[in-house]
Amino acid sequence: MLIVKKFGGTSVADKDRIFNVAKRCIRDYEAGNDVVVVLSAMGKYTDELIAKAKDINPNPPKREMDMLFTIGEQMSVSLMAMAMAQLGVRAVSLNAFQVPMRTTSAYGNARLKKIDTERIRRELDDRKIVIVTGFQGVNKYDDYTTLGRGGSDTTAVALAAVLHADACEIYTDVDGVYTADPRLVPTARKLESISYDEMLDLAALGAGVLHSRSVELAKKYGVQLVVRSSLNESEGTIVKGVGKKMERMLISGVALDREADRISVIGIADVPGSAFKLFHTLAKNNINVDIIIQSVGRDGTKDISFTVPHNNLDEAVELLNNCKDQLGFDHIEYNCDVVKLSVVGSGMMSHPGVAAKMFECLYNENININMIATSEIRITVLIPEKDALRAMNAVHDAFGLAE
Ligand code: ASP
Ligand code: MG
Repeated sequence: MLIVKKFGGTSVADKDRIFNVAKRCIRDYEAGNDVVVVLSAMGKYTDELIAKAKDINPNPPKREMDMLFTIGEQMSVSLMAMAMAQLGVRAVSLNAFQVPMRTTSAYGNARLKKIDTERIRRELDDRKIVIVTGFQGVNKYDDYTTLGRGGSDTTAVALAAVLHADACEIYTDVDGVYTADPRLVPTARKLESISYDEMLDLAALGAGVLHSRSVELAKKYGVQLVVRSSLNESEGTIVKGVGKKMERMLISGVALDREADRISVIGIADVPGSAFKLFHTLAKNNINVDIIIQSVGRDGTKDISFTVPHNNLDEAVELLNNCKDQLGFDHIEYNCDVVKLSVVGSGMMSHPGVAAKMFECLYNENININMIATSEIRITVLIPEKDALRAMNAVHDAFGLAE
């Protein structure tokens, strides 16, 4: 078998953990498997690099940030290869240039385009454990790029896809994917398996276990993932496609996203094109908009509300105010004291009443809903921040997810 094993920062945070990971990889290697290991930077090292950079220049050039970031992963892979050598096993570390892993040119947010497998194959054929830097790539200018924070998961899945790996294991500091964040919902339980689509929604909605692009890639190439802990032997959660006959869980999880803020554009002209102009202005400036609600027009005007990530709020409000005359609205209101609460489950496609049940539960808790958005497999509400934990626990219990 060819196994790709990815370990996050906490799994390689110090000497003991590095040896713990080395031994786990050697176990698979000695059982006769080919082993490719993908590592993140140790502990919070990437954050420390950001702090160092900002101390020198609060607005560092993106190219130089990527140049700096790459040393984090490079440190992990070389130390890991040394640990394996110390344990008497042949191993080789490779960075993005040595593989090479080609990406688009966007510094800080590059996408993988092409991974050459020849060098990795040669090292595997030579019976070495191959240890590859996560998160980084090389663009057409032969500069380093990075895949966005948390991007090592995506490196691992991409390698599993191009190498046609038999298994792709993502090791982290939790036991797997839970029905809700156990730090927020004490009754949350670990899922045995979850579908790609459900995992995608949960990852995008704040579940934080996996980089969402890694799940997109896994779905595209049919790479089955296992998310499990590097600190114990627990089974973990399998992320995979759903068979048509498989019984689906009604709801797989509840996610909370505290980063959403609401903007309302009040008194915009009720004519064709006003929504286009509004969202075009935001899109041009790379601001991601989520839930959108438009009121019914009255007296020739209407209101449009939507959510943006918190770190884009100031920019979005400023942009819109700068275009006030052109967009023709009265004024802007915004609210930061809101959160997005979502329930996700592929079973809701074939079961009516899931939305009603969620709203009933919030009504019982006397929690007011600001906005609602739905897709085939999720329902999201915007609610007051102060009610977030109470709502999350109540909804989790109402759908019978508790242990
Ligand atoms: N070290 C990078 C980060 O902290 C990549 C990763 O951990 O996946 O974002
Ligand atoms: Mg991560």
